[in-house]
Amino acid sequence: MYLDGNSLGPLAVGVAERLRRTITDEWRSGLVRSWNDAGWVDLAERAGGKLAALLGARPEEIVVTDSTSVNLFKVLAAALSMRPDRTALVTVEGNFPTDRYIADGVSELSGGAIEVREVPRSALRDALTDDVAAVFLTHVDYRTGERLPARALTALAHQVGALAVWDLAHSAGAVNVHLHAWKADLAVGCTYKYLNGGPGAPGFVFVATEHAEAAANPIAGWWGHADPFAFADRYEAAPGARGFQVGTPPILSLAAVDEALWVWEDVPPDALDAKAASLTDLFIALIDDRCDGLGLSLLTPRESGRRGAHVTLRHPHAYAVMQALIDLDVIGDVRRPDLLRFGFAPLYVSHVDVCVAVERLQHVLTTEAWRSPAYADEATVI
Ligand SMILES: *Cc1c(COP(=O)(O)O)cnc(C)c1O
Repeated sequence: MYLDGNSLGPLAVGVAERLRRTITDEWRSGLVRSWNDAGWVDLAERAGGKLAALLGARPEEIVVTDSTSVNLFKVLAAALSMRPDRTALVTVEGNFPTDRYIADGVSELSGGAIEVREVPRSALRDALTDDVAAVFLTHVDYRTGERLPARALTALAHQVGALAVWDLAHSAGAVNVHLHAWKADLAVGCTYKYLNGGPGAPGFVFVATEHAEAAANPIAGWWGHADPFAFADRYEAAPGARGFQVGTPPILSLAAVDEALWVWEDVPPDALDAKAASLTDLFIALIDDRCDGLGLSLLTPRESGRRGAHVTLRHPHAYAVMQALIDLDVIGDVRRPDLLRFGFAPLYVSHVDVCVAVERLQHVLTTEAWRSPAYADEATVI
C-alpha cells in the first residue's frame, strides 16, 4: 500500500524503457546529434505542454525546468519586476519552508526594500494592501492537507492590483487545478510527487499568456534566450514560460518526466477531485470508526472540497507508529513532531488499499507494536 505518492510518485509504465533508450540510442549512439534528432532541444517545452490540460492552461504557458525552489525565486522576482512600485510579498503562516526561505532571500537581495509578510490565514484579506506586489500561496498545504480556494484568493489579490503566485506541489495530479479559471498569474510545482517524474525530477513553471512579455526571469541564462544558438552578445528573453529556463536541461531526468506524463492523457481533472474525495472520505470515516480512542486526531479538514489528496493525523508517537506500519507494508510518512501523513494518489490508490491501511494502523495501535525499540531511531529523510 503506497500512500506516499505525495512525496515521491512510483515508476510509471514505460519510464524505465524510455530511460534505457535515451541512454543507449540517444546518448551512446546519437551523441550530440540527439539535441536535434531526438528532440532534446525543446523537450522541456514539450513536457510542459503535456501538463496543460491537467492544469487548465495552454501548452506554451508551461515549461519543465529547474527545481521548484529555484522556480519560486524566478517567479517571485518576476512578479516584483511586474509591480515595480510595490514593496511587499504576502503569504500565510505555515507555508512550505522553501517558499518562505526563498521569499526571505529575495527580500535580503533587495537590501530590505522588499518586505515579506507572513500572516495567519484569517488575516489574509486585511494583509492585501496596495503596496503588495504578489501573494504567494501553496494550494494544498503539505502538512494539514488543507486546500485553499484558489479562484477566490486570486480574485482578492487582483482587487488590490497584486499578482497571484501559486505553488502546486501537492495539487498537480492530485486535484482539479484550473489556472485559467482561477486567473492565476504565475505558478510553480513539482513533477516528482503526484506526477511521478522520478526522484529530484525538474519542476514546472506556468506564466499566463497575458504576462508573456512582462514576466522577466531574473536569472538570465542562455537557455532562456529567444535564440540561444545565435550566441548573441546581449540577452534577449524568450517570451513566457520558455524564457524561464536558465541553462542546459538535465535530459535524463526530463526524459523520465516526459514519459511519465502519458498517464494523464485521458484523465479529466474533475475525475481527480472525485476520486481524491472518495478515497480520503473513506479513510477518514474508517479512522473514526475503527481507531476511536486510540490516540489519533484528524488535522485535515473534513469537508472534501477543502482538502487535497492527503490526510494527516496526529499521534504523539507518530514516527514509531509509521515505522511499525511500514513494516506491515503500508507506506506513508511523518512530519515532526507528531504528524502521520497518508497520500491517496487518485490515479493508482484503490479503496481496498484504504481499507487495508486502516486495518493495519488499527492493529499497530491496539497491539502497541510501535513500542518496539526497533522503531525508536529516526532516519534522516522522514
Ligand atoms: C515538495 C515541495 C516543494 C519542493 O521544492 P523542491 O525545490 O523540489 O525541493 C516546494 N514547495 C512545496 C509546497 C512542496 O510541497
